[in-house]
Amino acid sequence: MAEKRDYYDVLGVPRSATADDLKKAYRKLAMKYHPDRNKDAGAEDKFKEASEAYEVLSDEGKRDTFDRFGHAGVQGGFGGSGGFEGFGFGGLGDIFETFFGGSRSTSQNTPRRGSDLRYNFGITFDEAAFGSEKELKIARSEVCAVCHGSKSEPGSKSETCPTCNGSGQVRRSQTSVFGNFVNVATCNQCKGEGTIISKPCKHCNGSGREDKQRKIKVNIPAGVDDGSQIRFSGEGGAGVHGGPAGNLYVHLSVKKHDKFSREGDDIHYNQPINFTQAVLGDEIEVPTLNGNTKLKIPKGTQTGHIFRFKGKGVSHLSRSGQGDLLVKVHVVTPQTLDEKQEKLLQDLAKTMGQAVLPKEKKGFFDRISDIFK
Ligand SMILES: [Zn+2]
Ligand SMILES: [Zn+2]
Repeated sequence: MAEKRDYYDVLGVPRSATADDLKKAYRKLAMKYHPDRNKDAGAEDKFKEASEAYEVLSDEGKRDTFDRFGHAGVQGGFGGSGGFEGFGFGGLGDIFETFFGGSRSTSQNTPRRGSDLRYNFGITFDEAAFGSEKELKIARSEVCAVCHGSKSEPGSKSETCPTCNGSGQVRRSQTSVFGNFVNVATCNQCKGEGTIISKPCKHCNGSGREDKQRKIKVNIPAGVDDGSQIRFSGEGGAGVHGGPAGNLYVHLSVKKHDKFSREGDDIHYNQPINFTQAVLGDEIEVPTLNGNTKLKIPKGTQTGHIFRFKGKGVSHLSRSGQGDLLVKVHVVTPQTLDEKQEKLLQDLAKTMGQAVLPKEKKGFFDRISDIFK
């Protein structure tokens, strides 16, 4: 058996430590090594060691004996058991709770807020852009319509629990070397409710709650985006013991559009054009959220150019106005041409050689080269 460490060393305090110093030192160690909090190997032994040290040093008489005779004196005084268990504690948990006042049992008959509900709701791109009105069917627990949450069959009465006199808690006085303390525990007979139901409500089986389908109108404002959340106060689960209901959170997920993508309140559209449209210019139709509109492609348009349509995007959520529609054109290189088209292009190619731009500003290319100046 390893030699017992000096109690002052165990707590890490000088021999001149005050009662308060001891208490602080022990509290720190107990928090660190309590088996409920620390699952490391050896933690429990450390906790026991600290508890034993504190127990002895916090008692003036025992501390005095320990100071003069060391472990032998103290153990002799206790009948030589020497171990933590020898001091007659009920268990580690008891000491921890009573010493630190951290009783883990709480009264269960106080009003409690109902649970929050989260509902995931998919809407279309257009519904998010323009807003819409939807009806949701939500299953949630509500206060039982028959017993109104009392849990008792109408006409019968619940009785005050004789064990705890309605408090839901049982207090037990205990004596230990720390002194007298009161151990508070949840009443076993009524499970902390404080009352005993003689005739449980048949409708809800004595739970006081029932599950109900509920319809809720959801006004989706124009401009909501994927991940937006709408809160409905008090539309969540019913409260317990008269507590308020929880909230309902409707979480919106916006489906992808087959044409547009969205970035904030702007929407993006990719428009392919052919190379003669890019060179010569054209007027084409492009889609918007409200039908097609005309887009004039100027001569010499580069691939990747973005045309902006002001106010053709999604409504701003928190202010008036809309984002923009951004149409990005990309020039598609033809992969197959008919004979005539190929001939025309070969003639064109001869005039250009390896030049990116036409060498001579004449004819057809006069106009386009001006654009690049
Ligand atoms: Zn009921
Ligand atoms: Zn009770």
